[in-house]
Amino acid sequence: QTSFSDIGQRLAGTSGIQELMDDLGQALNNQPDMRMLGGGQPAAIPAVQALWRERMQSLVNDQTTLDKTLLNYDPPGGNPLFRQNFAAFLKRECQWDVQTENIGILPSSQTAFFLLFNLLAGQTGNTKKRILFPLMPEYIGYASQGLCAGMLSGNPAKIEQRSAHEFKYHVDFDRLRITPDIAALSVSCPTNPTGNVLTQEEFHRLRDLARQHHIPLIIDNAYGHPFPGVIHTSFQPSWEPGMIFSISLSKLGLPGTRTSIVVADPAIIRALSNMNASTALSNGNFGQAIINPLLADDTLLKLSRDIILPFYKQRSDFATQVLHECLQDKIEWSLHSREGAFFLWLWFPKLKITSAELYQRLKARNVLVIPGHYFFYGLDEPWDHSQQCIRLTFSQPEAILREALEIIADELIALH
Ligand code: PLP
Repeated sequence: QTSFSDIGQRLAGTSGIQELMDDLGQALNNQPDMRMLGGGQPAAIPAVQALWRERMQSLVNDQTTLDKTLLNYDPPGGNPLFRQNFAAFLKRECQWDVQTENIGILPSSQTAFFLLFNLLAGQTGNTKKRILFPLMPEYIGYASQGLCAGMLSGNPAKIEQRSAHEFKYHVDFDRLRITPDIAALSVSCPTNPTGNVLTQEEFHRLRDLARQHHIPLIIDNAYGHPFPGVIHTSFQPSWEPGMIFSISLSKLGLPGTRTSIVVADPAIIRALSNMNASTALSNGNFGQAIINPLLADDTLLKLSRDIILPFYKQRSDFATQVLHECLQDKIEWSLHSREGAFFLWLWFPKLKITSAELYQRLKARNVLVIPGHYFFYGLDEPWDHSQQCIRLTFSQPEAILREALEIIADELIALH
């Protein structure tokens, strides 16, 4: 049997995300009756899909652009014209003080984070540098990205119980320790899985702490600014030198194009671009070609504000209403404040089984969710709370959502 290197084993071994993606793929292909509340794919929103079809049609009709797009390798940092247009778009629409050199294109934000984390952290001379996630639970997709063991650390969130069935996570600044081995602070906002959005004050405190320690603050805007803008609070992050923002085309409905945009200091953009040259040579360019003409005005912001945001708000309201109908006060349950993204994050403080067992029981009843424990990694000590949560996607059609939520409620009430 072929033996793998240490890094090979780390990357090629099983991971939470890989097992769940396998389950998801298996169900998608072989179990048409599975109610899929697990994945993070964007919903099929007719007006959005129509726009992407129209853009593809225009590309096909424009032979010169199409030929160029198909034929050319772009430079590894992205298409120069696209980078320029994107910088102008951010400057005009978001008032971010950015130039072309601050913009780098990468083949997905998943890839961007893999490269970024390993660029900044890991063995550095005699020190092992770490990425610190100030607000755990955090995105499952980061959990296996460190090439070096122990590279990712998490600070458990502080829980605010807002009412009988609603809670919110906050950054626990009293516990946040930025020791000299911390290479960067990183937070997804809105957060996958919880839908949490930093308060403006938390964002400023994190920015100030990062500045004070001369480390970057990384914000993953996959669901947030400037698009798809699925944020229900007034949170408006502004990029500043020293920060690293990641933006993705995926949640706009274009995950198949594997395109992300990183906004950072020019030295970080150059480093990422060089890393991308080694690993991918260059980016797929269809995402950039589809989006490019829409950067000239506020089409993407309008699409986000007028179509995408209300769509997810309506789905989220529907799912929450069904949940209240099904669970009432029959068991102890609490939903994270719905501040953004595509998920409901549910907490059952008295759950008698682990979240993994709950996942299996629901899967046996044809409901696929994501068990919460995967989202708590890099913690110093065990935390009961990590076994008491599940993540649900509400981007499925309403009839499926209702059935799934009724089954979830039934299972939990039976367990009580
Ligand atoms: N970051 C967060 C918070 C996500 O939820 C996801 C995907 O679900 C990603 C990054 C990856 O997005 P992309 O499709 O750009 O790789």
